Amino acid sequence: MELIKNYINGKFVDPIQNVWLDNYCPANGEVYGQIPDSKKEDIALAYDAAKSAFQYWSNSTLKERSKILIRISELLESNLQRFAEAESKDNGKPISLAKTVDIPRAADNFRFFGHAITQFASESHEMPGLNAINYTLRQPIGVVGCISPWNLPLYLFTWKIAPALAAGNCVVAKPSEVTPLTAYLLGEICNEAGLPKGVLNIVHGLGNVAGQAIIEHPEIKAISFTGGTATGAHIARIAAPLFKKLSLELGGKNPNIIFADCDYDNMLETTLRSSFSNQGQICLCGSRIFVEASIFSKFKNDFVEKTKQLVIGHPADSKTTIGALVSKSHLEKVVSYIKIAKSEGHTILCGGNKVSLENYENGYYFEPTIIEVSSNDCKLNQEEIFGPIVTIMPFETEEQALKLANDVKYGLSATLWTNNLKRTMILSKQLQSGIVWVNTWMQRDLRTPFGGIKESGVGREGGFEALRFFTQQKNICIKY
Ligand code: NAD
Repeated sequence: MELIKNYINGKFVDPIQNVWLDNYCPANGEVYGQIPDSKKEDIALAYDAAKSAFQYWSNSTLKERSKILIRISELLESNLQRFAEAESKDNGKPISLAKTVDIPRAADNFRFFGHAITQFASESHEMPGLNAINYTLRQPIGVVGCISPWNLPLYLFTWKIAPALAAGNCVVAKPSEVTPLTAYLLGEICNEAGLPKGVLNIVHGLGNVAGQAIIEHPEIKAISFTGGTATGAHIARIAAPLFKKLSLELGGKNPNIIFADCDYDNMLETTLRSSFSNQGQICLCGSRIFVEASIFSKFKNDFVEKTKQLVIGHPADSKTTIGALVSKSHLEKVVSYIKIAKSEGHTILCGGNKVSLENYENGYYFEPTIIEVSSNDCKLNQEEIFGPIVTIMPFETEEQALKLANDVKYGLSATLWTNNLKRTMILSKQLQSGIVWVNTWMQRDLRTPFGGIKESGVGREGGFEALRFFTQQKNICIKY
């Protein structure tokens, strides 16, 4: 039995009230460990440790911060196998994905921000003729809160922590209670890398208890949150009267628009990935697929055929391409959308069922599913399912495709498949989303701003945007 502890002030500690929560392995549905059911007092303890460390850390040289962050990155890389196995066991994702995407990206996050902070310069403005100069300092905020979801556990946890630390803040962080394991292991790596005690504190527990205590803590003045839209709205309501700076990365229902003039084979391969990677549990997955009518029937056949070839299996098996969903309750949510699809009169082209895997009958497996819908105005196309279910629907004109794509409350990402330059330029400007991929998907450059519009969030992460979020400006005007 794995006992996961809080990481506070450089030490692994039990929760103050000594209450623990079970943690389940999605591959077999069994309890494999326990995590602290942390309460307000654990968050207070973590805050105190972070506050004590702030004086030293905020005055540390960029060289020191950079060196430690890059060391963490190197240690994650040298522990790749161990971390990938832990992520796969905890989340249900195929080990191949954890090894090639999740853990390398977590390492990249530390390396990237370890370098980026050394390039993050202050601004200064001479006032000509007045013998005065303005300069603007970017100072760390103090103790900041980072709260992350379960779908890309270490990847998204570190995407917040790395820039927060690079900018000189101390952190109280909470990973998802569903996937705590790699965040726990990160504490060990931080100690080994020489991160001073208290600079990063990792507290485990429930969102509405430990998470909410971070949001409510009066001295934690900035919160970087990734998770569901409803949770984001709830957090914003609490944080507003406390005047907290907020970054909210929320849900999505992303369109994947396919024109007949695209590079078909590349589109088909990538669409398979953008539909079902990580069992469709990536906020960027293209879950609404709109296809130009002239190739709709060919696409439908090819896509169904390719989807049927995906290998549903135990996450630890290197041949597995579709692992387990993250939890029993999430599996039930996904199943409920099949009932909705039937009641809304859609056509299930493939999948639609739970899978009972030999020897792992209690695991949370579900078939990759394609559903043909006749309208965008239905629950299947308007609500975020966040699982291996995509819808397909034909369109006739560019205008119609754009309208369908934008006709949703979310605005995280959109994918466009076409070789027509004019269409690319026009549609990519008019698509209502924070990210547009043209002839590719999930190709990320860590320098670029990442985030959504509409109900997909506010604020941007990535590159200098993240360093801007985790700093506050002070303008100083000197007359000489
Ligand atoms: P969630 O909102 O339930 O939980 C996210 C985190 O918030 C968890 O750590 C949880 O414990 C915590 N939390 C829950 N209630 C809280 C509260 N009252 N106060 C403070 N913290 C609280 O989301 P989830 O189910 O873990 O993740 C899935 C969602 O995340 C999906 O909607 C998905 O689209 C979204 N997501 C968005 C992005 C993005 O970049 N936009 C990336 C990944 C996932």
